[in-house]
Amino acid sequence: MREFTMRPEVMDFESYTPGLTIEQIKERYGLDQVIKLASNENPLGASPVVQKVIERHAASVFRYPQNHSPRLVAELSRHLGVDESHIVVGNGSDEIIDMLIRMKCRPGMDNILCYSNSFSMYKLTARLCGVEYREVPRGDDLALPLDALAEAVDEKTAMVFVTSPDNPTGLAASVEDLSVLAGVLPENCLLVVDEAYIDFVWPPESYTPMQAYDKFSNLVVLRTFSKAYGLAGMRLGYGVMPASIADYLKRARLPFTVNLLAEEAGIAALNDEEFYHATLDAVMRGRDYLRDELEKLGCEVVPSQANFLMFTPPAPAQKLFKELLKKGVIVRPLASFGLGRSIRVNVGTESENKAFIQAMAEVLNNE
Ligand SMILES: *Cc1c(COP(=O)(O)O)cnc(C)c1O
Repeated sequence: MREFTMRPEVMDFESYTPGLTIEQIKERYGLDQVIKLASNENPLGASPVVQKVIERHAASVFRYPQNHSPRLVAELSRHLGVDESHIVVGNGSDEIIDMLIRMKCRPGMDNILCYSNSFSMYKLTARLCGVEYREVPRGDDLALPLDALAEAVDEKTAMVFVTSPDNPTGLAASVEDLSVLAGVLPENCLLVVDEAYIDFVWPPESYTPMQAYDKFSNLVVLRTFSKAYGLAGMRLGYGVMPASIADYLKRARLPFTVNLLAEEAGIAALNDEEFYHATLDAVMRGRDYLRDELEKLGCEVVPSQANFLMFTPPAPAQKLFKELLKKGVIVRPLASFGLGRSIRVNVGTESENKAFIQAMAEVLNNE
């Protein structure tokens, strides 16, 4: 076999090992039913209204979509109260993260900044692009260290990433703290707030800077249809950003990465208020239930504003994870986030939540 040389950044990557699929777990442990609470997906599934819209447009897929999804952008603009010139949609918000880093950061020169135990996409994309990834430690109780971020920036910092609500803790930064951070960044540095879970905060105006978007000159807000809108498999997200940055992204990006069905699904999802509110209702109730029950089982639970909870069980997390798998419940152990004693579980349906708590009680009481 021929040995090809790749870019050094690429040759350094280890291959990604995905978790077992639901089918594989059923087979391995002889189970009829498996509950997946590991990827923060929507507990109610996909909206029936959106499913119909996707079916209705199936016959159109021989056509190319419209580049930059102008109809979806117009709908988003109306929903957010932000001018269309600020909005870029992508193949998941992951694509917006990728475009920002690839197009804004100079390889071998610039750095991006985040805090420890955070979402891996920022670091992976930076590495692939040859951009230095810097991290500051979190505060007490894993608090989001916005002050430390402000202190750690230098003139080569192209972007500062804050996930709020945060993955995997569920902690959220206040608008005031985000405004202060935005205000102290160097001239050429963007504050990127990843709001994948913003739908689940209460009250929204205390947490998202979107309402006062016009007051900021260096703010990028990332949002996704993968969580509250139940469209993870469609791959649809967007960024709200300074119009000049949006313009560069649209000029240099690959065309048509947001497919025709995703655009239609997104427009339908934004207008399906019934499903959206049912999702918020299910998540907020389920979150309270899970927190109470986990605490009763002796777990230390981080107060979450997202559709998941991070907790530290009174037993080794990796072992608990495996015992839960045997009972047909998939959760997310957080060793890959550098939090080896903890687990993340997303809110499921009422019966899934109960089954998870039941399985937890069985495992913990057998120890
Ligand atoms: C789930 C998630 C996203 C969403 O990614 P998509 O590419 O839109 O599916 C973004 N950021 C964080 C922190 C997430 O947890």
